[in-house]
Amino acid sequence: MEEAKISIATHAFNYGTGCFEGIRGYWNAEREQVYLVKLQHHFRRLLNSVRLLRIDIGLDAQQLCDIAVEIVRRSEYHEDVYVRPIAYKASPVIKVGLLHLQDAFCCFSAPMGDYFDINKGLSVTVSGWRRNDDNAIPARAKATGGYLNAALAIADAQDAGFDEAILLTHDGHVSEGSAANLFLVMNGKLITPPVADDILVGITRGAIMELAEKLGIPVAERRVDRTELYVADEIFLCGTGVQVASVTKVDGRKIGDGKMGEITRSIQDLYLSAVHGEVEEYMDWLTPVYGGRTG
Ligand code: PMP
Repeated sequence: MEEAKISIATHAFNYGTGCFEGIRGYWNAEREQVYLVKLQHHFRRLLNSVRLLRIDIGLDAQQLCDIAVEIVRRSEYHEDVYVRPIAYKASPVIKVGLLHLQDAFCCFSAPMGDYFDINKGLSVTVSGWRRNDDNAIPARAKATGGYLNAALAIADAQDAGFDEAILLTHDGHVSEGSAANLFLVMNGKLITPPVADDILVGITRGAIMELAEKLGIPVAERRVDRTELYVADEIFLCGTGVQVASVTKVDGRKIGDGKMGEITRSIQDLYLSAVHGEVEEYMDWLTPVYGGRTG
């Protein structure tokens, strides 16, 4: 970390012209293994993000997976880890734009436990900040500059005593959390905002849909009104950092009985078992770091 230096004139530092990923690795003590979760999915999403930002990494998804595995392996982690690849506009120039600039790629890893206490229900608020629109700063590109939107929303929410913010689209529909997708449970069904409502197309969101199918829980991707949040039976957030976290209060209104709901708990349990390598059926989500295959 100390040796990896970039210029203060770097384009991405000045203008937010980078794309990144956040990938988790879970330590399985019994097998003395770190499992990276949905590695290929993350790098395929990064390759989509860089297409939008006209960054050429010059590496394919498999080569990127191999780099992530090597970084964790060489760091010799024996605990939960987080991997952060960033592709960015590297030229030291004062000029807005995306063309005729040098592109660069870096990747680092760090130990990481729970982002929120996932056993405690979260108290959230609907933010006054709107989610950045696809025609302004597309959420589909996981761009560094786009996270100013999330930073404003969560900072104000936490300043007002909430754990997290829920952002609405410009036309007032529920989009997502500051760094997490959102599911509602209503009448035994899961409901989540569609990809066209300015969400980051979350990899955990996709994983939850797979798990819901296995648990026999129907899932609908559809527009969600703000007030549906207040009357939902259960709500949870999901994401690489957040994992699966129950929301038990929205704008001071109790959700269900104010405790983590049954469906949320069953999804959280199955998700955590799957990512730790404890469910045979989902071993193909995982890339072991020490020995074995990659990808
Ligand atoms: N939305 C936003 C804005 C995020 O930053 C994240 C975290 N990457 C997510 C959703 C969840 O995405 P994923 O499940 O791929 O981590």
